[in-house]
Amino acid sequence: MRKKVLITGGAGFIGSHLCELFLGKGYDVICMDNLITGKIENIEHLFAGKNFKFVKHNVSEKINIKGRIDYILHFASPASPIDYLKYPIPTLKVGALGTHNALGVAKAKRCVFFLASTSEVYGDPLVNPQPESYWGNVNPIGPRGVYDEAKRFAEAITMAYHRYHGINTKIVRIFNTYGERMRENDGRAIPNFINQALDNKPITVYGNGSQTRSFCYVSDLVNGIYKLLMSKENDPVNIGNPNEMTLLKLARTIIMLTNSKSKIVYKALPVDDPKVRRPNIAKAKKMLKWQPKVGLEEGLSRTIDYFKSI
Ligand code: UDP
Repeated sequence: MRKKVLITGGAGFIGSHLCELFLGKGYDVICMDNLITGKIENIEHLFAGKNFKFVKHNVSEKINIKGRIDYILHFASPASPIDYLKYPIPTLKVGALGTHNALGVAKAKRCVFFLASTSEVYGDPLVNPQPESYWGNVNPIGPRGVYDEAKRFAEAITMAYHRYHGINTKIVRIFNTYGERMRENDGRAIPNFINQALDNKPITVYGNGSQTRSFCYVSDLVNGIYKLLMSKENDPVNIGNPNEMTLLKLARTIIMLTNSKSKIVYKALPVDDPKVRRPNIAKAKKMLKWQPKVGLEEGLSRTIDYFKSI
């Protein structure tokens, strides 16, 4: 029998790549999204297939799904800093109520539940790189707290359903990811820098650009997610690319790859912007036999082509 997967947030950047991955592997896919930050354009090309179904729904409200489900991948949430600053309460609600509702479906269907968590659970980390055992340094009342704490609660309730209800749950902690179908104006560094560079406009580096991030191309991420879903692991696993760099280096790389005339300008650093971020992926390597394959220049070139094409 064909396996059926429910992907919440399936019209988002990562969600839409997951819909494609599961359809490609022969699953029936139900994509659920309220389109608050997801886009119908991300999944339109999948509508023609008979194994794909789109349901417009806010998962912070009760979820009604008839019939069998084998896997739930809970990816619904605003995930870019400007999105969760714009939608602080929906962000808190989807991490808390949305995760509770999705876990309720998993319990009713006795299916596997997979939570999209984030490197933001580590906050502004005092340990670098971050292993899964690090508990983080999060400001609960700062502007980013709405996302960080919602995801920390989501992890806590997921583990509670695992321990108390015996649900087979998985938690991925996703580090900065980029690639096709990021929104041009989602405010993150890579879409901002690429679009500014393509327009020969100033590249806006926040702070002095010495803060670091480690960027993972989306195909590597979704392959890691699939391996984790199929594994026996129930504790959180970091998935990301450990290639750490300063934002200034990222800006210069994008200027070089786009042959841009753009100059770098420095803007105020957002409140609680993490100074460093790099995944320790020893666990994913050992347990999942996973590691990223796509290098930064290759991934950026594909992403630049995407933004040129839209
Ligand atoms: N950033 C920047 N210029 C921009 C957008 C972001 O310098 O136009 C910085 C931001 O302050 C942070 C890093 O890039 O230090 C990554 O930000 P992003 O929004 O991509 O994600 P985050 O890792 O903060 O969740």
